Amino acid sequence: MSHKIEKTIIIGSGPAGYTAAIYTARALLNPILITGDLIGGQLTTTTEVENYPGYVTGISGPLIMETLRKQAERFGTQIINDVVVSLDTQNRPFKIKTRNNEFLSHSVIIATGASPLWLNAENETQFKSNGISTCATCDGAFFRDEDLVVVGGGDSAMEEAIFLTRYARKVTIIHRREEFRASKIMLERARSNPQIEFKTNFSVKKWLLNEKQELSGALLQNTKDSSEETLNFTGAFIAIGHKPNTDFLDENIKINTEGYILTPENTMTSVPGIFSCGDVSASSQRYKQAITAAGEGCKAAMDCEKWLEEFKF
Ligand code: NAP
Repeated sequence: MSHKIEKTIIIGSGPAGYTAAIYTARALLNPILITGDLIGGQLTTTTEVENYPGYVTGISGPLIMETLRKQAERFGTQIINDVVVSLDTQNRPFKIKTRNNEFLSHSVIIATGASPLWLNAENETQFKSNGISTCATCDGAFFRDEDLVVVGGGDSAMEEAIFLTRYARKVTIIHRREEFRASKIMLERARSNPQIEFKTNFSVKKWLLNEKQELSGALLQNTKDSSEETLNFTGAFIAIGHKPNTDFLDENIKINTEGYILTPENTMTSVPGIFSCGDVSASSQRYKQAITAAGEGCKAAMDCEKWLEEFKF
């Protein structure tokens, strides 16, 4: 363990984390950024991002993240590819344990984002990443000319279904209601795609397998009249939302009922000196956009800088 006390450590490498790094580095706080397992965050698993301001014709998610990382490094951020396992908020300086190291820091910016949820329907575990996926960009190409399903009714489900039509013969969107959370433009794009079909008012009760133990379809249940029917397909993508990544936190950091970090004073959490931004924060729960995460990363960095200055660290 290093006995050096850092001014600030940023946890997470999505748009919020890298933006916090750019701002704290430019404020000469010599930030360390610990990336987490998914380096670059969720955007590295998407395709084209068309709504990030500044890119007239869109930009690929991985390219935005690579650019943000280089920008953070340009101002002196030290980026460490490691995963935080605990953040001790009882004592000061704060102690951060990673899989490979330990760090001390006067302040911490949490930007750990959120991870995709699974349905946990019967037989799901055996098909995880082997027939059933939560990332079309990562796994779509494995399903050429096959019949696929996407479960969910939000923008992610529409985006995944549209993307999968590049490879699949047909994509069926299974959604548990008639109304969609997806934005009108995304829903329209999916509806006007001849390779996409919709199956509304259905949920997946059980994943089905063939004699070779491969995924062969699902037993669906109608959410209105509970009737059941079978749908045949060979690959499934689940796009039903996310869980905030807060497992490494102790109980001093207050979270809301869904697990997102509360920030009672601007971006500061219930523990002074610890800040939170991006998809892990309750303040972002409603938005979950790369641009809002980047904006919050900027705010957290500015709040952190002021706090360190006020307490003369
Ligand atoms: P979301 O908007 O929360 O939608 C989740 C969907 O999954 C809902 O339709 C929900 O159904 C369904 N669902 C949740 N739990 C379920 C379960 N156990 N079984 C079956 N269905 C379930 O999540 P998201 O689509 O991941 O989007 C999150 C945010 O990212 C949104 O703000 C979205 O706009 C943004 N986003 C934007 C883009 C883009 O603009 N290109 C792309 C992706 C995501 P109910 O509606 O019945 O609750």
